[in-house]
Amino acid sequence: MKKMEKTKDGTGLTECTGSSDFISEFIKEDLKSGRFSCVHTRFPPEPNGWLHIGHCKAFFVDFSMAERFGGTCNLRFDDTNPEKEDISYVEAIKRDVKWMGYDWEDREYYASDYYDYLYDLAVKIIKKGHAYVDDLSEDAISEYRGTAVADKHNITETPPGKNSPWRDRSVEENLDLFARMRAGEFADGAKTLRAKIDMTDPNLLLRDPVMYRIRRETHYRTGNTWCIYPMYDFQHPLSDAKEGITHSLCSMEYEIHRPLYEWFIREAEVFPSRQIEFARLNMTHTVLSKRWLLKLVQEQYVSGWDDPRMPTIAGLRRRGYTPEAIRDFISQVGIAKTDSMVDIAFLEYCLRQDLNKRSPRVMVALHPLKLIIENWEVDRVEELEAVNNPEDPAAGTRTIYFSRELWIEQDDFAEAPPPKYFRLFPGNSVRLRYGYIVTCTGFDKDPSTGEIIAVRGTYDRETKGGNAPDNRKVKSTIHWVSATHGVPIEVRVYDYLFGAERPMDVPVGGTFLDNLNHHSLEVIPTAYAEPCLAQALPGDRFQFERLGYFVRDPDMDSAVEGKARTKPVFNKTVGLRDTWAKIEQKSAQEGKK
Ligand code: ATP
Ligand code: MG
Repeated sequence: MKKMEKTKDGTGLTECTGSSDFISEFIKEDLKSGRFSCVHTRFPPEPNGWLHIGHCKAFFVDFSMAERFGGTCNLRFDDTNPEKEDISYVEAIKRDVKWMGYDWEDREYYASDYYDYLYDLAVKIIKKGHAYVDDLSEDAISEYRGTAVADKHNITETPPGKNSPWRDRSVEENLDLFARMRAGEFADGAKTLRAKIDMTDPNLLLRDPVMYRIRRETHYRTGNTWCIYPMYDFQHPLSDAKEGITHSLCSMEYEIHRPLYEWFIREAEVFPSRQIEFARLNMTHTVLSKRWLLKLVQEQYVSGWDDPRMPTIAGLRRRGYTPEAIRDFISQVGIAKTDSMVDIAFLEYCLRQDLNKRSPRVMVALHPLKLIIENWEVDRVEELEAVNNPEDPAAGTRTIYFSRELWIEQDDFAEAPPPKYFRLFPGNSVRLRYGYIVTCTGFDKDPSTGEIIAVRGTYDRETKGGNAPDNRKVKSTIHWVSATHGVPIEVRVYDYLFGAERPMDVPVGGTFLDNLNHHSLEVIPTAYAEPCLAQALPGDRFQFERLGYFVRDPDMDSAVEGKARTKPVFNKTVGLRDTWAKIEQKSAQEGKK
């Protein structure tokens, strides 16, 4: 596992190995050589799904590179595929980029606004004799293009493809046919416009790629104005050029497309945008592809794009993640060319670091069990002072109430304690946080079910708030909530959506869905919380002492099946146990061996 190091300037723009980040180096060279006089980047999401944490890496790189070099970054919707795109995705993307703290100001663009410009450039390339209208079907085009084959030594080769019989049409004929494609004279799929490059190029993408196809689909912005749509490899470089993008930063899978990117820029004679690729973010227990996330949503394996188990920005927000923690994570992962798999425990570590500083502490009995203090008067209530956040003295203190009947955690009591169990069992004493030392005197069972329904104990009045006369020591401090004052809340506890570390690794015939963890959501209908939680606003975050970090669900409305919800819902964000620290410790030990 790589050691994550924070970069000096906090941007994370240095590869975690410590070497200088390669994108900045390219940009510096370009500025020095005069290739570009400024830096202008773009984040180009396709509005066909909600953004996930992988996209955070992409826009982090786009925005921070622009910022680092005093430039600007556009938000451009790469919306030239009418089948899957929708305005609701545009809205979701804008909301999530903003929530992450990035601002594109008035630089909001749509590739679909460039249809006329792109059409004119296609005509220009036809006029140069470098594009032609083809009558081959899309299947025949693939067949003519050929595929890579492995020889007996398992070395892959790409035998040359075959020219289309329509490749040598005259410029005039091509111009006429292309205009008629646009006018809707031909059926869907009947013709395509192709770049005339080289059907023998070892890079299959350069074997006369399709520039336009006929699709009678209603586009969410342009409606039925167009029945021909430009392909990604043609429109993307030219959209970059239109906006004067100097550095078009994208993930590694586009590396093989780069010669094509450059070909279109050259042939169209437009602004010479430069494409630079970096490694995608991959994370354990997670799938990061809109296609797979959409499947989870459509087939209702999750409640929606913003389900708190989803790696989408909206899911992470509902789960209680902060933009600061996500940015810190992305920045520490750094930018590299080689793909790596980041342990999700590292993301959780970054989150804990942030939540520890900012979350007020409260006490909640998640799985409540009654504790009756037998020597406490029935109506007596005592006010105790509790610290809101030991990490932040400015957060002050609050009043909590101690009474005869309290809620404690079910697993803080054991009828027959296992070895090294130091919490409550008959005869044993514990400290109640901020309160008294209590000694267990017995317990009540439901006679019909045998279930333990209450624990009994006595308190020692000399031990209030940490006092320990006679140097008395107890081995445990447990949390509690006054049963008279506690407020009921609903709590949702989450586990990874995928049990497997690499959900996409499946045997032949399987799918990533086989790796779904069917126990990734536990709903606790009634937990008891300190009264202050009744005032928590949606999105407020807390540390429930000894249990973890929780957030008041920001989106859950107060109605359940038409009835008013009586209990606020809290989502468990992350536990307190730091598995990343353990992983690091283990790898350090292994390093010493
Ligand atoms: P997905 O695989 O999730 O469908 P995509 O590449 O099709 O992703 P786009 O909306 O086209 O989705 O992506 C916008 C930008 O985000 C692109 O520049 C793409 O390179 C980048 N990107 C997508 N996924 C990741 C990732 N996991 N890590 C880094 N960058 C990513
Ligand atoms: Mg894409």
